[in-house]
Amino acid sequence: MKVFLQFVVGLTVFLGVSFGLYRGYSFFYGKKGGNNYDWKVIQQKKNIIPVAIIGSGPAGLSAALYTSRAHMHTVVFQGPQSGGQLMSTSEVENWPSVGKKQGPEIMQLLKDQAQHFGAVLINESIKRVNFASWPYELITSDDQVVHALCVIIATGAFPERLKNVPGEAEPWGKGVTGCAICDAAFFKDKDVVVVGGGDSAAEQALQLTAYAHHITILVRGPKMRASAAMQDRLKKFDYITIKYDTMITQIEGDGSHVTGVTLQTPHGSEHMAIDGVFLAIGHKPNTDIFKGQIAFSPTGYIAHACRTQETSQEGVFAAGDVSDERYRQAAVASGDGVKAALDAERFLQHIGFDEILAKKIERLLYDPIAIADLPDIEPIESLDQFKQVVLESNVPVVIDFYTKTCSSCAQMMPYIKSTAAHMKNKLLFVKVDIEKVPELKNRYAITTAPYFIVVKDGLVIGRHNEAMTKRELFDFASRFVQE
Ligand SMILES: Cc1cc2nc3c(=O)[nH]c(=O)nc-3n(C[C@H](O)[C@H](O)[C@H](O)COP(=O)(O)OP(=O)(O)OC[C@H]3O[C@@H](n4cnc5c(N)ncnc54)[C@H](O)[C@@H]3O)c2cc1C
Repeated sequence: MKVFLQFVVGLTVFLGVSFGLYRGYSFFYGKKGGNNYDWKVIQQKKNIIPVAIIGSGPAGLSAALYTSRAHMHTVVFQGPQSGGQLMSTSEVENWPSVGKKQGPEIMQLLKDQAQHFGAVLINESIKRVNFASWPYELITSDDQVVHALCVIIATGAFPERLKNVPGEAEPWGKGVTGCAICDAAFFKDKDVVVVGGGDSAAEQALQLTAYAHHITILVRGPKMRASAAMQDRLKKFDYITIKYDTMITQIEGDGSHVTGVTLQTPHGSEHMAIDGVFLAIGHKPNTDIFKGQIAFSPTGYIAHACRTQETSQEGVFAAGDVSDERYRQAAVASGDGVKAALDAERFLQHIGFDEILAKKIERLLYDPIAIADLPDIEPIESLDQFKQVVLESNVPVVIDFYTKTCSSCAQMMPYIKSTAAHMKNKLLFVKVDIEKVPELKNRYAITTAPYFIVVKDGLVIGRHNEAMTKRELFDFASRFVQE
């Protein structure tokens, strides 16, 4: 009898705790499940993606490697920075097993590995999502609607900008930037400041050492937060100065370039004549497009369950910096991506997605247009060639100024190729590596990359100094088409 009573009490406690935990979990995450996974509905849709991954940093690409290796058709929307944040760093020494390697090299290896197993990487961003009903809708920057059976969000984080500092917004891209690896070449023999005290600030300063005349690091507090190894590397350069307890209060410019900054120092206000401001003051998670669709943490990161990458929406997973305010390291993001991929695989099995269904929907799969085969854009490598091709052209010429290290320049190339093919004979597209023909950079006051100018009969008739989506580039170029 006593044993029986103990059993009943034990069972009651167990059920009570389990239910409580379940309710607590559901309450905390407000988990929305219970979708009607109706395969008949799926067979009436088009543009289907079994596993859609938003983001191509370490998290997104590691997830893609796993899902595609498990024979799940996977499409990665690479977004504005193909390869993610590691594309803007030089040496990486803590990616397990590779020793010391360049960030872009590591990301290329990861892309190759994911593609080897069949992952499809496309140069599009997702501008809107709808998780209200299944299959989930993703709207691309090209306005296509795709239907995802499950989604892995790996949109990472982007650099913060200064707040309440007069003059910061206007010269963005004209001397104020967040990416040394993209823009350092524009500051040859110039004086620049780097704002921030962490590893990113140290990294940006080190990247600038190959170009700048003098680099001043402005640290808001009394010491740098960068690792000891990074600080040691900074000490090797006598043209790097560090100012502590210092903040920028104003950025001054002449309309096209930055000319100086006003600083608040422990000794009062100080003016510095400089040519460039590199911001390294932290990152903000890329969550805007998911607002109202899934639960966030109080600090704005995507909330996920404790031991898995599940979000508040069944079949939607989050990995990497977008859901990690604590670690923010490439290897951690990659591990998150692997977990999200395994969670996605379990989810697809759970809703009955098997080889037979995969075969049935094969003809309905999203098939982005193959742009890799389009002809290349003519590179301009000398002033003579510029005169012949650009100045003597009888149609307007769009010139794409780029640098080899600028990832958004590489990212835009497929858009440029497809726009050029579309506007053939009406508009000519050429590209100029600013380091190969610096005279053109100076002649046209090019201050960042990518930078587009449109030239007709030797006159500049259009300018755009930022990366564009495929649609934005198309709209920009259409303005100059001659019918
Ligand atoms: C300068 C610098 C140096 C660093 N050095 C190191 C280091 O040495 N070691 C280390 O471990 N970590 C380092 N880190 C941190 C590391 O880079 C990040 O932790 C890691 O990249 C996070 O990976 P992620 O995949 O979560 O996101 P990210 O790398 O931020 O990638 C996010 C991806 O999402 C895409 N995206 C964003 N919005 C959209 C959208 N709407 N649609 C489609 N795609 C979208 C972007 O294009 C990008 O591909 C460094 C970071 C910086 C900035």
